[in-house]
Amino acid sequence: MTLPHTYADGNCPLARTLEVVGERWTLMIVRDAFYGVRRFGDFATQLGIPRAVLTSRLKSLVREGVLSRESDGAGGVEYRLTDKGVALWPAVHALMNWGEAFYSPNGVKRLLRHDLDGGLLDPEGRCRDCGAAVPVPEIRSEPGPGYRPPGGVADPVSDAINTPRRLLQPITQAPARG
Ligand SMILES: [Zn+2]
Repeated sequence: MTLPHTYADGNCPLARTLEVVGERWTLMIVRDAFYGVRRFGDFATQLGIPRAVLTSRLKSLVREGVLSRESDGAGGVEYRLTDKGVALWPAVHALMNWGEAFYSPNGVKRLLRHDLDGGLLDPEGRCRDCGAAVPVPEIRSEPGPGYRPPGGVADPVSDAINTPRRLLQPITQAPARG
């Protein structure tokens, strides 16, 4: 649910931001987009989100310019983070760190590294090895010591997300154009 408009009309940037990404599924969709999920069916599988809700949230993210809706070149549609969407990364990273600090009793579930040298990212997004402020496309995500593979049926989308890989790298490649 978006907040009542009166709430955001007070010129408060946080209220305006929460109107766009404050709803739980919305931020989960954005997080998955950082992990390279681009297709409707992959978001649906990975998040377990009702399809009608996913349709509505994707529409609103496209309307706000967080995601762009593009052809995948094979008759399908892909949702990709725009520059405006990628600019949400520090917020997503901070919330992930907070969750790891307070809600991951078995250890860190996901490690983020500078892919060029393997250095771990600090909470401010700097590489602990080389000190660089690591650009999002150079961040590698990998399972941490607290990660537990989900039981049950294998899910290729989750498998791809939980394999060491760079952020934004699409988990499904469009078929070769012919
Ligand atoms: Zn580095």
